[in-house]
Amino acid sequence: MAPMTSSPGPAARPLLNRRLAEFGTTIFAEMSALAARTGAINLGQGFPDTDGPESVREAAVRALRDGRGNQYPPGDGVPELRTAIAAHQADRYGLAYDPGTEVLVTTGATEAIAASLLALVEPGDEVVALEPYYDSYAASIALAGGTRVPVTLRPRDGRFRLDLDELRAAVTPRTRLLLINTPHNPTGTVLTRDELTEIARLAVERDLLVLTDEVYEHLVFAEPAGSADGGEGADGGEGADGGEGADAGRHVPLATLPGMRERTLTISSAGKTFSFTGWKVGWVTGPPPLVAAVRSAKQFLTYVSGGPFQYAVAEALSLPRAYFDGLRTELRAKRDLLARGLTEAGFEVYLPAGTYFITTDVRPLGERDGFAFCRALPERAGVVAIPNAVFYDDREAGAPFVRFAFCKREEVLREAVHRLKRLTA
Ligand code: PMP
Ligand code: GLN
Repeated sequence: MAPMTSSPGPAARPLLNRRLAEFGTTIFAEMSALAARTGAINLGQGFPDTDGPESVREAAVRALRDGRGNQYPPGDGVPELRTAIAAHQADRYGLAYDPGTEVLVTTGATEAIAASLLALVEPGDEVVALEPYYDSYAASIALAGGTRVPVTLRPRDGRFRLDLDELRAAVTPRTRLLLINTPHNPTGTVLTRDELTEIARLAVERDLLVLTDEVYEHLVFAEPAGSADGGEGADGGEGADGGEGADAGRHVPLATLPGMRERTLTISSAGKTFSFTGWKVGWVTGPPPLVAAVRSAKQFLTYVSGGPFQYAVAEALSLPRAYFDGLRTELRAKRDLLARGLTEAGFEVYLPAGTYFITTDVRPLGERDGFAFCRALPERAGVVAIPNAVFYDDREAGAPFVRFAFCKREEVLREAVHRLKRLTA
């Protein structure tokens, strides 16, 4: 009888597969845990500290009570929500999508990103992404076996800017898709119409697919006409204009540019627009073959989720314009409050044109390493922030930048600023 051969046991190699090994725990979990442990004010993870509209919350309760969505909703999302998403794209942006074949509801934007990349990327494909990049992009590209090719946004004249020549140079015959994010997390940059036009031109010329993450579409801050400094009161630092992006105050979806609709998947989510980040209702819109590809992956990730919440988000999307304007105005005031406070506390501030976030440079405080700075900040000042370096392949390029979230109550922001002034006291 042949001797039994023993195969290597589980201990013989690392438990975590090598595609995920480099990622560790997300910075958001690490920093929110640090805030909880130290009692520091959490300006790290981007979630509002007050819930969205009562009427939307009530709509979710009603759906639960009426038994709508308590069992598996349809794989594509409930028809009411798909219709509301299509109506939103048409009314806001003049983009016509068929709710039957061109809209897919996902478990937050996060699943939309993962499913899109898993569906479209083959091992060896390159994905060109703006750096700093939202952390799930890198992990999802890796899970798909792709290679990320970062194009770094660099600060110039008060704003993080895309170098279009660098973007062009990043595209090779192996490039499968461009992964764009505007308004951009973490820098707060909103790509200008000129930048979007160049991206579109490149995509058409090189016949590339485009995945665009527009979860902050309703958080583009209008600037007063002719503003050169980010508006009254907000000292965003030298030349910070904050309002130069995308038609000042109006989001321009990449899919609206010539030649883009047929090659673009647009991702959004209810989390930021309605201040219910825990509900995790997101969506993808795009042409039928692209949406079908995403569905192929999505059906084996969660299949479906959030039934009753889907009905509530359908109602939320038809809230009057005043709701969306009010949200933007409120957040803009919070942005200005925090920008002013951070400037007074000694940070260099890049006034964001959109999103929940302000990126700062800590070098004026005599610091060089944003990571070390953020780890020490709860102890030194009772505040938690995010080191932008985690969003870079080129850690050196990201080292001095630190991100603060301003989607918090005004009194919380005031207290945070008060504490941060201790750094130079
Ligand atoms: N994309 C960006 C740029 C984000 O900032 C976030 C974080 N909210 C997401 C995607 C994930 O969105 P969701 O919570 O809907 O999954
Ligand atoms: N998008 C949020 C941020 O950038 C966090 C989302 C998460 O915790 N994964 O802060």
